[in-house]
Amino acid sequence: INIGETLTRRTRRMPNREALVETDSGRRFTYSDINARTNRLANGLRDMGVIAGDRVGILLMNCSEFVETFFAVAKLGATLVPLNWRLTSDELEFILKDSGSTTLVFGPEFSDQVAEIKSRGYKTDLTRYVQLGGVQLDFSTDFTALTANNPETEPEIKGGNDDLLFIMYTSGTTGLPKGVMHSHNTVFAAITNMMATNETGIDETTLLSLPLFHVGALTPAFQSIYSAARLVITRSFDPLKSWEIIQQEKATNTLLVPAMLQAMKAVFDPAKHDPSSMRSMVSGAAPVPVSMIEDFAKMGISINQVYGMTETCGPGCLILGEDAAARPGSTGKGYFYTDIRITDPEGNECPPGVSGEVCMRAPNNMVGYWNRPEATAETLIDGWLHSGDVGVADADGFVTIVERLKDMLISGGENVYPAEIENVLHTHAGVADVAVIGIPSAKWGESAMAVVVKTPGSDVTEDELIALTKAKLAGFKCIRAVRFTDIIPRNASGKILKRALRERYADVHA
Ligand code: ATP
Ligand code: MG
Repeated sequence: INIGETLTRRTRRMPNREALVETDSGRRFTYSDINARTNRLANGLRDMGVIAGDRVGILLMNCSEFVETFFAVAKLGATLVPLNWRLTSDELEFILKDSGSTTLVFGPEFSDQVAEIKSRGYKTDLTRYVQLGGVQLDFSTDFTALTANNPETEPEIKGGNDDLLFIMYTSGTTGLPKGVMHSHNTVFAAITNMMATNETGIDETTLLSLPLFHVGALTPAFQSIYSAARLVITRSFDPLKSWEIIQQEKATNTLLVPAMLQAMKAVFDPAKHDPSSMRSMVSGAAPVPVSMIEDFAKMGISINQVYGMTETCGPGCLILGEDAAARPGSTGKGYFYTDIRITDPEGNECPPGVSGEVCMRAPNNMVGYWNRPEATAETLIDGWLHSGDVGVADADGFVTIVERLKDMLISGGENVYPAEIENVLHTHAGVADVAVIGIPSAKWGESAMAVVVKTPGSDVTEDELIALTKAKLAGFKCIRAVRFTDIIPRNASGKILKRALRERYADVHA
C-alpha cells in the first residue's frame, strides 16, 4: 500500500466526484482535479531532486495545496514533516534539524520565519524551498509555476508499506516535541480502524477547521479520500463561519478540540443556524466538560469524544454522544482494532475501577520516535504503546482519562491527580481558571499548589481556596499554597503547560 496512490485509485474509480471544497476561496475540486494537481506537483518535486526517503517539511495553513503536497510526497516515497504554524522560528528550526528535512513547502505568511531560519545558517541539509503565493523569496521556487510547468501524468509510485509516510512532532506538552514515525501501513490501519469504529462512508462531508498538521485532522483527511467522501476545509477556525459552513455544505461530521466547541457554543443562534445535517461532532485532545456535552445536546447535537495521540495516528478510545450522558467524563472504549490495557507500574493489568497507565495495542501504533531509540523502547513494549496517561476502565471497558503520568504528584505515598483538585476549585465563583501543580514538601515529599486566575472583581483569598479543598477532599489532596496570576499558559489545543508552570513556581515550597 502506498497512501499517495490511494488518491490515484480513488480517481480511477470516481473521477468526477467532488473531493474537496476550500471555503475561503470558494474553490471546489473533483478527485480528478486533485489528482492532476498532485501529479503536477509530484513531477515538479521529483525534477527538483526530491527522492524516496527524503524528508519534506510543510508549513501551510489548511488549503487544497496542503492535501496535494501530502499525496505528492507520498507518491514519491518521501516522508512528510507537517509543521505547526504556531511555532516560533526557534521551534521550527529544531524540528527541521531534528527531522533532517531537505525540502520545505511553505506559505507566504511564514516567509519572514523561513528567511530568518535560512539566514541563521541552518546547519542541516535544507536546500529546497517551495513557496506557495506571495512575494517570492529570492531563494525559493514558486509553487504555482512549478505545478503549471509540469504534466499531470502519474509519477512512478515509489515506496509504501513499512516506509515512513510522515514524521509528526508531538505537541511538546510534557517535554521537547518528539518526532513520531508513521508508515504507509500504520496510517492505512488508522484509516480502517476509524472507519470500522465510526461506520462512516461515501456519503460523509467532513468539515476540517482543525489544522492539518495535527494528526486529529490529517488522518480524517486521508479517511475522507479513502472512502470517497467530501472534505470541506477552512484556512483556520472561525466559530461563526463554522455554523454557516455546516449549513451550506450540509456537513455530516467535524473534528474539534474543546476550546473550539466552547467558541461555537458562544455564537450559536438557533434562529439562524441549522446544524441538522451534522451526525457527529468529534472532540479530542483534552477532556470535554460534561456541561458542554449537555449544552450541545440541547442544540440537538451529539458530541462524540475521542482520546488519542500522535503516537496512535489519532484513534485510541471513542465514546458516542448517546453513551456519554450515562458515563460522564469517559472517553469511551478502544477503537475497533485497538486493545486497551490499564497497567500498574510493574506492568500488571489493573482491575476495573483501579487507575493505572493506559496502554494500547493497535495496528496504527507508531513505528517509533525518530532518532530516539531509548524513548521508543520505553514507550513501545511488546506491541503495547504506553501512553503516559493515567486512566481507569469500568467493568464495561469504558475508559476515563484521569491525568498525565508526568503531572501526577505523590504526597505522603499517595497518588494525587491535579485534575481532581482543579475540578473542586473550579466550583468557586471567584475562580476563572486554575491549574494545580506539585511543590516540594519536607514532610510529604510533594504537595499540591494551585495557580489561580480570579474572575473579574473577585477578592477570593488563598486561605479561602485552601479551606475549600479541605472541605471537599482527603487531607493528602488539599492544596498547601495558592498563587494568583493573569493567565494559565495553554497550547493551542487547550492543554495546560504544567511544565512551564512548575518552572515558574520552582521556588515555592510547602
Ligand atoms: P507531548 O507528548 O510532546 O508531551 P502531547 O502528548 O500533548 O505532547 P499529542 O500527541 O498531541 O501531544 O497529545 C496526546 C495527548 O493528549 C494524550 O496523551 C492525552 O494526554 C491528551 N488527550 C488526548 N485526547 C484526550 C481526551 N479526550 N481527554 C483527555 N486527554 C486527552
Ligand atoms: Mg504525548
